[in-house]
Amino acid sequence: MTEYILPVPPVASVAVAGDGRRFPVRRIFCVGRNYAAHAREMGKDPSREAPFFFLKPADAVVDSGSAVPYPPETKNFHHEIELVIAIGKGGTSIAAADAHNHVLGYAVGIDLTRRDLQIAARDAGKPWDWGKGFDRSAPIGPIHLASKVGHPAKGRIWLSLNGAVKQDQDIADLIWSVSEIIAAASRSMALAPGDLIMTGTPSGVGPMVVGDKVAGGIEGLGEITITIAPATTA
Ligand code: MN
Repeated sequence: MTEYILPVPPVASVAVAGDGRRFPVRRIFCVGRNYAAHAREMGKDPSREAPFFFLKPADAVVDSGSAVPYPPETKNFHHEIELVIAIGKGGTSIAAADAHNHVLGYAVGIDLTRRDLQIAARDAGKPWDWGKGFDRSAPIGPIHLASKVGHPAKGRIWLSLNGAVKQDQDIADLIWSVSEIIAAASRSMALAPGDLIMTGTPSGVGPMVVGDKVAGGIEGLGEITITIAPATTA
């Protein structure tokens, strides 16, 4: 039995719809610019060049219904509503045709972004981590098991801010599909049970301020809500 010099950190986890058990999170992969209209609003040409990924730490996850404190060092804190893939079976070089067999289920997530830090890093050729992988940057709703809901390839994806719809598109508009994303990711990294993949956001991203009520959803996968709380001073 290994002994540790410090208390072992808690296992980061996500709720599972209709199940008392939780999904233990290993890593959070995120796909960049995977809807053409969003790529354009970020000043980039949408393309079918190979998808690219960045990561958030596992313990960035927070449950739906949480109050997320406004994060430090940003003046442009953005929402990005996204379809999230929950990996249930690992593998390397997974064929797209086999990819669905590796999916436990799907959820609605919000890729919270310190846009000013992300853009500054991007334009300086520096890593995105500080803009994307900060504390509590990954609210994720309950995982809906593929055994119950299947593998949705179309359906409305939306986000509203204080009741006003800001993002409203269809997951059929993904440039890279769920299967293609799993194939691409597993060519470079061994995927493992507990991995989450945030698949990219549609257009309409924008800033949030303290007190905002954020809601979003994907047809067939339920909804997620968060509120933006005052910055913590800790
Ligand atoms: Mn994103």
